[in-house]
Amino acid sequence: MKHHQIILYIFIIYFFHVSTSRESENLFNHSKRLTHAIINGEVRSNGTLLNIDRNSHIIIELRLTRDDRPRSIARTKIKLDSNRTKDPFSLLFKLKYPLSKMNPHNTYILTARIRNSQNKLIYVGDLPVPVTERKEKQAKHLIINVVETPSWFSNIDKLSLLAYKVTQLAGTEEAFTSDFYTNKKSGIYTCVVCNSTLFSSKHKYNSGTGWPSFYQPAIEKNVAADVDRKYGLTRTEVHCANCKAHLGHVFDDGPQPTYLRYCINGVALQFYSDEYDRK
Ligand SMILES: [Zn+2]
Repeated sequence: MKHHQIILYIFIIYFFHVSTSRESENLFNHSKRLTHAIINGEVRSNGTLLNIDRNSHIIIELRLTRDDRPRSIARTKIKLDSNRTKDPFSLLFKLKYPLSKMNPHNTYILTARIRNSQNKLIYVGDLPVPVTERKEKQAKHLIINVVETPSWFSNIDKLSLLAYKVTQLAGTEEAFTSDFYTNKKSGIYTCVVCNSTLFSSKHKYNSGTGWPSFYQPAIEKNVAADVDRKYGLTRTEVHCANCKAHLGHVFDDGPQPTYLRYCINGVALQFYSDEYDRK
C-alpha cells in the first residue's frame, strides 16, 4: 500500500461519568456537589502511524461550538512513544471538565490531533459528542477516521470569522453583502478553504436573491449535496466535495437549461478572473 493511501482508524471509546454524584441522570440538573465530569477514553489505531518522530504527541481535546470557532474546554497532551506507533496501539486518556460550561444547546466535539517535533499536524480526527445522550457510566464505542492531514487543513484557521461560520458551521451570510453577487467578470469560483474549482461565471446569473447564483457547478463532481431539515424546512444543502465546506443550497426554481438555482454564500468562494488571459 502506498503511504499516501493509508487511512488510520482511531477508535475512541469513551466512558462518561460524573465524578461526584450518584443521581446524575441529567447532567444539567446542577447540584451543589456536582462540579466536574470526566471522560475516560481510549484511542486505538489499527495500523502503523507514519512520519512519527521522537517528539510526536497526540492532543485530545473536548471543544465547544456555539456559533463561533470551537473553543477548547478540556485538553490533554500525551507523548507518543515511537516504538508504540509501529504497530496498532492503544492509548488511555482522561478528560476532566467543568459542568458549568456544559449546555445541551451547544455542540461538543472530541478531537484527536497528532503533531510531530516540528509541531506539524500529521493526523487529525473529529468526533461529535452528543451531549443529550450523556448518562452516568454510559459507555460508547465511537470511531474517528483519522487521516493524514490534507494540505488545505491549516487554511481553516486562517478564515475570517464569517467564512468560518458559513463553511464550517453551515451559516449564511447576509443577502446583498458579497461583492460576488454583482460580479460580472469572466472567471472561476473556487472553494475558500481548499481551492477546488466549484463554479464558473459561464453559469452565473442574476437571481435577485442577494446571493451569488449559478444554474450548475463548473465541475459537477466537485459540488456535493445533502438534505438539510433545519428551521422546519426541507432544503438541499451543497458543500465542497473535497473539504466538506458548506457553500449554500440548491433549489429547483432556476433558469434553463437545468432549472436549478445554486444559491451560494460569496464568503465561501474565491474568484479568479480570466480577463487577462482573454486579451
Ligand atoms: Zn473545499
